[in-house]
Amino acid sequence: MPDFMKPMSGLGVTFSSMFSPTITEQYPEQKTPTAPRYHGRHQLNRHPDGLEKCIGCELCAWACPADAIYVEGADNTDEERYSPGERYGRVYQINYLRCIGCGLCIEACPTRALTMTNDYELADDNRADLIYEKDRLLAPLPPGVEAPPHEMAPDSTEENYYRGEVSKEGRLVGRADS
Ligand code: SF4
Ligand code: SF4
Repeated sequence: MPDFMKPMSGLGVTFSSMFSPTITEQYPEQKTPTAPRYHGRHQLNRHPDGLEKCIGCELCAWACPADAIYVEGADNTDEERYSPGERYGRVYQINYLRCIGCGLCIEACPTRALTMTNDYELADDNRADLIYEKDRLLAPLPPGVEAPPHEMAPDSTEENYYRGEVSKEGRLVGRADS
């Protein structure tokens, strides 16, 4: 191409983009839904009666390649019970300054206590607020369900909980898959 034509070829790019469709997204006023399996903020799930599924085993923390999870387990007692069975996650933290959203932690969790939501708004203006603890990670309690600590359903075992045989009202019911 002769030298005098070169500025014209640059303008050609400008003219062609003037007639292409606008792709500006009006975020945050309009939020685009994510793909259904998008790896967003984590959630610590509960059993139907509100007890926590996390047993404080730390497998998620060991699986994390970014060292983003910190867990401290503790023993449940009859007076103060947060999960069925022996242990619960007393301290649970995820550091979103480190998390790369890989999902290995949720693969490692033996009780499906840990899953990921589609919530992608994980920005803040300081580092401390990006370390999420149980108050921001635990699933909300369904209406009318008592917050732990509280007793397990009468005559139930932890196995009944893991099989989905305990109702929202804290009663033993038939198997969830029967
Ligand atoms: S998604 Fe990946 S990086 Fe983030 S906490 Fe889980 S294992 Fe760690
Ligand atoms: S979230 Fe799952 S893997 Fe992590 S400590 Fe709790 S039960 Fe264990």
